[in-house]
Amino acid sequence: MKKFLKVLLALSTACMIFAGCTDSGSENEQNTEATTQATSNENGQADGTDINGSGKLIVGTNPEFPPFEYVGDSGEIEGFDVELMNEVGKRLGYEVEFKSMEFKSLIGAMEAGSIDAVAAGMSITKERKLAVDFSDTYFNASQYIIVNKENQDIKKAADLTGKIVGVQEGTTGDVYLTENVKTQNIKRFKKGIDAVLDLKNGGCDAVFIDAQVAMDFVAANEDQLVCFSGGIDSEEYAVAFPKGSELVSKVNEAIAEMRADGTYKTIYDKYFEEQSDDETEDISLEENTSDEESKEDVKKAE
Ligand code: GLN
Repeated sequence: MKKFLKVLLALSTACMIFAGCTDSGSENEQNTEATTQATSNENGQADGTDINGSGKLIVGTNPEFPPFEYVGDSGEIEGFDVELMNEVGKRLGYEVEFKSMEFKSLIGAMEAGSIDAVAAGMSITKERKLAVDFSDTYFNASQYIIVNKENQDIKKAADLTGKIVGVQEGTTGDVYLTENVKTQNIKRFKKGIDAVLDLKNGGCDAVFIDAQVAMDFVAANEDQLVCFSGGIDSEEYAVAFPKGSELVSKVNEAIAEMRADGTYKTIYDKYFEEQSDDETEDISLEENTSDEESKEDVKKAE
């Protein structure tokens, strides 16, 4: 994983330097590629109702979120969510195909019927629940803060007050910062990796992003970056479906079965066991702030 991320960082940097790609340029390229990979059903569209007929479950994701989803060396979308959904698909008798798009477009794409489900490290929120039905939680997460090693005075959410903070647009991290922390400036990026590159180049003071993704980015840059627990409420990742979808209960059953028979753990260990080792050995990761303390600090800082 570490090696993969180093390559990813190098490629992103090379793309920006040599091709002068803008964010949207590289997203477009990626979308074209992913659309080619994804096959639609007979009508050329997934509408969440004829899945049984087509036998295909078209799952939207944003493969810029390692280790949950990323484009692997083979050019295919890989990661924890991908393996989880492939296994769910196998148990329910669906061929699973992933379709790549920007994170903030996923729910709209499902509403428009171009994907049947979303598996993208998507956290359950009240607002999203108005638009989609979520499966049971398949992963517990939280937000972390990444900083340059020489700037370790920022360790928790309250320390972000007055700072320039990079986030991935439309994510729970973006919403949390916008609503709770008086940052000097929130810089919104389409991809977490671009926020990290901006941090490395001194464009922002910190990046606020989901914990496991923060750890992965730090592991790929351990000479320069460290990450800390943001100390905010935990979040829960779940698969999203169109409102009223019959798939929710079927997918819940499949996930419960996978937890019971050890398949979930096998997939989990593949992506996160190494990360837990890193946590204690390689990464200057501090969990020294309780959620309650930190929330108090944020309040005080305001
Ligand atoms: N968990 C965050 C959210 O749901 C970020 C997800 C992502 O960027 N893929 O908003």
